[in-house]
Amino acid sequence: MSASVSAEIVTVYQALDGGIHHARCGQRVALHGQRAEELDFYCLTCAESVTLPVCVLSRIPVAGEPTECAA
Ligand SMILES: [Zn+2]
Repeated sequence: MSASVSAEIVTVYQALDGGIHHARCGQRVALHGQRAEELDFYCLTCAESVTLPVCVLSRIPVAGEPTECAA
Protein backbone atom coordinates (compact mmCIF):
# COMPACT_ATOMS: atom_id res chain seq x y z
CA MET A 1 0.00 0.00 0.00
CA SER A 2 1.21 3.48 -0.74
CA ALA A 3 0.45 6.33 1.60
CA SER A 4 -0.72 9.56 0.09
CA VAL A 5 0.39 12.81 1.63
CA SER A 6 -2.89 14.32 0.62
CA ALA A 7 -4.90 11.71 2.43
CA GLU A 8 -7.57 13.01 4.68
CA ILE A 9 -6.90 13.05 8.36
CA VAL A 10 -9.13 10.47 9.94
CA THR A 11 -7.22 9.65 13.09
CA VAL A 12 -8.14 12.79 14.92
CA TYR A 13 -10.42 15.76 14.63
CA GLN A 14 -10.45 19.17 16.20
CA ALA A 15 -13.31 20.11 18.43
CA LEU A 16 -14.78 23.57 18.60
CA ASP A 17 -12.84 24.24 21.77
CA GLY A 18 -9.62 23.79 19.83
CA GLY A 19 -8.78 20.49 21.45
CA ILE A 20 -7.61 17.53 19.43
CA HIS A 21 -9.89 14.55 19.80
CA HIS A 22 -9.37 10.94 18.92
CA ALA A 23 -11.69 10.00 16.09
CA ARG A 24 -11.97 6.40 17.25
CA CYS A 25 -13.31 7.08 20.70
CA GLY A 26 -14.12 10.76 20.61
CA GLN A 27 -12.06 11.51 23.67
CA ARG A 28 -9.57 14.30 23.84
CA VAL A 29 -5.98 13.30 23.29
CA ALA A 30 -3.23 14.83 25.38
CA LEU A 31 -0.13 16.34 23.90
CA HIS A 32 2.57 13.96 25.00
CA GLY A 33 5.64 15.32 23.34
CA GLN A 34 7.11 16.98 20.33
CA ARG A 35 9.80 15.90 17.96
CA ALA A 36 11.39 17.86 15.18
CA GLU A 37 8.42 17.82 12.87
CA GLU A 38 5.97 15.62 14.68
CA LEU A 39 3.67 15.98 17.62
CA ASP A 40 2.96 13.02 19.84
CA PHE A 41 -0.51 12.81 21.26
CA TYR A 42 -1.75 10.14 23.60
CA CYS A 43 -5.25 8.85 24.06
CA LEU A 44 -5.83 7.66 27.60
CA THR A 45 -9.02 5.89 26.61
CA CYS A 46 -7.44 3.75 23.93
CA ALA A 47 -3.99 3.70 25.53
CA GLU A 48 -2.72 4.57 22.14
CA SER A 49 -0.28 7.16 20.94
CA VAL A 50 -1.10 9.25 17.91
CA THR A 51 1.68 10.92 16.02
CA LEU A 52 0.88 13.79 13.72
CA PRO A 53 3.20 15.73 11.46
CA VAL A 54 3.20 19.39 12.39
CA CYS A 55 2.31 20.31 8.84
CA VAL A 56 -1.08 18.62 9.05
CA LEU A 57 -2.24 20.40 12.17
CA SER A 58 -3.77 23.20 10.14
CA ARG A 59 -5.65 20.63 8.10
CA ILE A 60 -7.25 18.75 10.93
CA PRO A 61 -10.95 18.74 10.25
CA VAL A 62 -13.00 20.70 12.74
CA ALA A 63 -16.03 18.98 14.09
CA GLY A 64 -18.95 21.24 13.44
CA GLU A 65 -22.05 21.26 15.51
CA PRO A 66 -25.26 21.68 13.54
CA THR A 67 -26.78 23.69 16.33
CA GLU A 68 -25.22 26.82 17.66
CA CYS A 69 -25.33 27.13 21.38
CA ALA A 70 -24.13 30.28 23.03
CA ALA A 71 -21.86 29.41 25.94
ZN1 LIG B 1 -9.03 7.00 21.72
